[in-house]
Amino acid sequence: MSIPEVNLVFDEPVQRKKVPKHLADYSPEERREVAKALGLPAFRATQVATHYFSHLADDPQTWSDIPAEMRHSIADQLTPKLIELVRSVTCDNGMTRKDLWKLHDGTLVESVLMRYTDRVTVCISSQAGCGMGCPFCATGQAGLTRNLSAGEITEQIVAAARACANGELPGGPARLSNIVFMGMGEPLANYNAVVRTLHNIIDPAPDGLGISARSVTVSTVGLVNGIEKLTEEGLAVTLAVSLHTPDDELRDTLVPINSRWKIKEVLAAADAYEKRTGRRYSIEYAMIRDINDQSWRSDLLGRLLKNRNAHVNLIPLNPTPGSKWTASRREDEAEFVRILEGYGVPVTVRDTRGREIDGACGQLAASEKTRTD
Ligand code: SAH
Ligand code: SF4
Repeated sequence: MSIPEVNLVFDEPVQRKKVPKHLADYSPEERREVAKALGLPAFRATQVATHYFSHLADDPQTWSDIPAEMRHSIADQLTPKLIELVRSVTCDNGMTRKDLWKLHDGTLVESVLMRYTDRVTVCISSQAGCGMGCPFCATGQAGLTRNLSAGEITEQIVAAARACANGELPGGPARLSNIVFMGMGEPLANYNAVVRTLHNIIDPAPDGLGISARSVTVSTVGLVNGIEKLTEEGLAVTLAVSLHTPDDELRDTLVPINSRWKIKEVLAAADAYEKRTGRRYSIEYAMIRDINDQSWRSDLLGRLLKNRNAHVNLIPLNPTPGSKWTASRREDEAEFVRILEGYGVPVTVRDTRGREIDGACGQLAASEKTRTD
């Protein structure tokens, strides 16, 4: 028996239908309904959720509280395998690992797992490709293939949690502590699946992974309608806004969606988010040599942010193949930081983890595509 359609509003119902349904696509209540529709007692859904989120047990043979003869069919129905590992590449002595995943329709997406002394972070994809077209971004160059389902996004996170628990990174078994939506795609353009995933991350056992909301960062190019909707959810996840420049003239070029929502509107939406959740937000700023790294821009950014509860994250540009742009000079970066700090704006320069394995933004999937084309 196949799992019946539950009445949910999806962003792209036609495409989404093709992705097999997974327990992670549903709310806890819907999971119980789905179990009942399969002719199972509702508590089976809770048992499977516990195996999936708490035990990270992907082998149904180990599900000892479920009758042996039922395990495989229940697993096929509720936790079908949605992502298959194509290859992994590591760097930083194994502390950074980038995984390339193939989805059921052959689409490729990637995630990056990074172990630090005090935490393990996974950077995940919310879409295959991205339709926002930022010219400095490898994912943006490829365009949007499709939205991922909540199951496909959640699977990347659960696979990362399992890799940590299994001690696959040097330093022994660990607990996945942080999740950032900074892989491929614009999370707020795949809103429903992303919010379902946020619940899967935050909800305590048996419904989710029980990771604290503050350890989750949703990075957006600045979709104001999406930020407003997220504000209403009342989830205290960290919001990151990819600003990249304090002036609309340049931002119209670097971030094409700026023609729809201007900087003022984006910051107002982020402020409202901060007010509602009490969470300081991040401003992401890719430092591009001689494009957006001038001291006058730092000055303008400082003035824009000095009375806001925001933190600036400077990201040295990771040049994409064929791009004429490159990362800022060290001295320009240092001056940029100095000026911002003069305004009392907290600022950090992002470490360049994973750079030699194309650790940023769609580059592994892009290179795999070139290999197979
Ligand atoms: N679409 C979302 C999240 C994914 S991109 C967003 O744009 O925020 C995650 C971050 O990587 C964004 O801040 C994005 O601007 C940045 N980024 C994209 N391409 C980059 C590159 N080539 N070098 C450095 N940062 C890049
Ligand atoms: Fe999409 Fe973000 Fe890349 Fe822009 S930077 S194209 S929004 S993934």
